[in-house]
Amino acid sequence: MSVSVEKLTNGHHRTLSERMQFLSSGTKYDSCNQSAVCHAFGPDGRCIQLYKTLLTNYCAGECAYCPNRCERDVPRVSLTPEEITKITWSFYRKNAIEGLFLSSGIIGDAEITSQKQLEVVQLLRQQGFTGYIHVRMMPGTPKYILEQIADLANKFGVNAETTSSINYSEICPNFDYKNDVLQRLKWTRDLIREKRREYRGTGHIVGANDTQFVVGAVDEPDRDIIRTVNKFMDKYALRRPYFMSFDPIPDTPLENGSPSPKWREQRLYQASFLLKDYGLMHKDLEDVYNDSGNLMNTDPKLELANMHPERFPVDINSASMDELLLVPGIGPVSANRIIHSRPIGSEEELARMGAVVSRASPFIDLNGVRQTNLASFTGGYS
Ligand code: SF4
Repeated sequence: MSVSVEKLTNGHHRTLSERMQFLSSGTKYDSCNQSAVCHAFGPDGRCIQLYKTLLTNYCAGECAYCPNRCERDVPRVSLTPEEITKITWSFYRKNAIEGLFLSSGIIGDAEITSQKQLEVVQLLRQQGFTGYIHVRMMPGTPKYILEQIADLANKFGVNAETTSSINYSEICPNFDYKNDVLQRLKWTRDLIREKRREYRGTGHIVGANDTQFVVGAVDEPDRDIIRTVNKFMDKYALRRPYFMSFDPIPDTPLENGSPSPKWREQRLYQASFLLKDYGLMHKDLEDVYNDSGNLMNTDPKLELANMHPERFPVDINSASMDELLLVPGIGPVSANRIIHSRPIGSEEELARMGAVVSRASPFIDLNGVRQTNLASFTGGYS
């Protein structure tokens, strides 16, 4: 294996801004695009801007899809915990960000790397940083570090990447799905429960757990991904799954693979919201997959509504929360507002509740009047 000059010099001959650039683009498979600022959703559903960086793009791992895998001959650089803290503060004070998203390659081992991640979070909090902190931990992060991260970060987790041990060993050969991922997911669940009990009524933040899947790196259908998300939500109280489309990287074992279309990522998010925010189970979505078990490029909620005309129309002024949530264009927030503001007298009033009336209209009754004929809307589907 060839070793680049950067590897020998630790990348420290590079300027801070060059290293920042490398480490922001190195987060390709970490929840965001490749700019230094990415978007995330806060606990209230609000979109927030985060400074997104790796601590280092050195990595001992050989994950088959990853630009940072150890065998690739690319410039390797690091930022120190002090540098990341300083940069985060500087963006934060300029109102350019509301928080930090921190991931990393594995330098040394998972313990050494995650200690450095913890150091960043500790420094920021000790200095009074009250912004949002999301930490993507390494597979194999020790429990004592997760414990301290759970005390300080708003969101933290380990990437599952895929749905089974067999698939995982194919794409992440250095790690063990059961021990390095599932065991960590279990710990995050237990820690969050403990912290909630400990901090009840104190106003102290208690983080939430997340994970991420690389969509399309192995040949697994969307049905398996959504089933796994559902299982993680039930078993590990997973708060948030992220999906990142596989995109082949030159000089990796998967360089000749086909990129996963971006819309697939978007449809998986929509299907996962149906589990998370609408209270559906993965088995409720069985109808929306094609013969190969994949989602089609349509909104799964609309697809589900079109496939079940017997569930409609829903009477806006008498429907239960669950019934309202089945209506395309009505989400948990608007359904809640509708229930607390009934009777709703007009489409204008419905729109003021946050419903997307053009989408909802074919599926609802308002004051005993069906808004649009469903059969004409769905092209006669029954
Ligand atoms: S652990 Fe795997 S996915 Fe993470 S940076 Fe290293 S090679 Fe990439």
